Amino acid sequence: MRSEDFNKEKERLRERMSNIKHKIVVLSGKGGVGKSTFSANLSVAFAMKGYGGKVGVLDADIHGYSIPKLFNITSERLYQADEGIIPVEGPLGIKVASAGFLVQDEDSPIIWRGPLKAQLIRQFLSDIIWGELEYLIIDLPPGTGDEPLSIAQELPDPDGAIIVTIPSELSERVVRRSVNFAKALNLPVIGIVENMSGFVCPHCGTRVDILGSGAGEKIAKDLKVPFLGKIPLDPRISESGDKGVPFILEDKNSEIAKIFLDITDKIESFVRGR
Ligand code: ADP
Repeated sequence: MRSEDFNKEKERLRERMSNIKHKIVVLSGKGGVGKSTFSANLSVAFAMKGYGGKVGVLDADIHGYSIPKLFNITSERLYQADEGIIPVEGPLGIKVASAGFLVQDEDSPIIWRGPLKAQLIRQFLSDIIWGELEYLIIDLPPGTGDEPLSIAQELPDPDGAIIVTIPSELSERVVRRSVNFAKALNLPVIGIVENMSGFVCPHCGTRVDILGSGAGEKIAKDLKVPFLGKIPLDPRISESGDKGVPFILEDKNSEIAKIFLDITDKIESFVRGR
């Protein structure tokens, strides 16, 4: 890209992002811990709290995008308009951008190297018509690779990062890396969420800590970052994800929905207190 075009893009990015009050990054040390499920439910929770139409989700997991599936909008595509690219609309008017809206079919892998991925992320930030948003949730791929670095470099004034983990010994080190990564990039750590934390048998009510217990809370304490809460392992969460209806929308009055909303309240207090 010529330097003149690059500068224009930077200018556009700054302007688009200046219309977004709070930008929250969701990270995890490794895959499969429920980071995207959490991002999807968090955005719905914000929309339910009265910010409908003013919430966006940027699915920055370019190889492993899953937000389109979680919102049941996989057949949607991004369209170019005069003033930019129109985001896809998810539940409750949530605006969504994802690499999943650019591929021909869902089974084709996206085979891109770092610079192309960085370019796409820049375009998602600068060319999508996000409009005036209260919250933009950015779902990053696991680990500390190209996309988290691009976001950290390109995103003006992020509010901070939420780190999603599972409560096992093994994930402890991985989470420490994510917390230290955020700190190295000057991203405030909003807090740690422990997902898949305990399973309550629907038949006898006994709680079983299938993946261990308390690692997220322990790390938060050790590293002096906030602990946001524990979300149980519950097959209804994965079933609703498979259906493309975030659990919090499906069963608004459940204990699990209350946990999501409580975590959302804590996140809101953090970003408003900045
Ligand atoms: P990640 O984004 O970290 O790779 P996903 O959000 O794609 O993880 O979740 C991985 C799988 O785990 C999905 O099938 C999802 O439905 C399931 N899942 C996530 N959180 C829970 C939970 N609390 N209870 C049960 N299943 C869950």
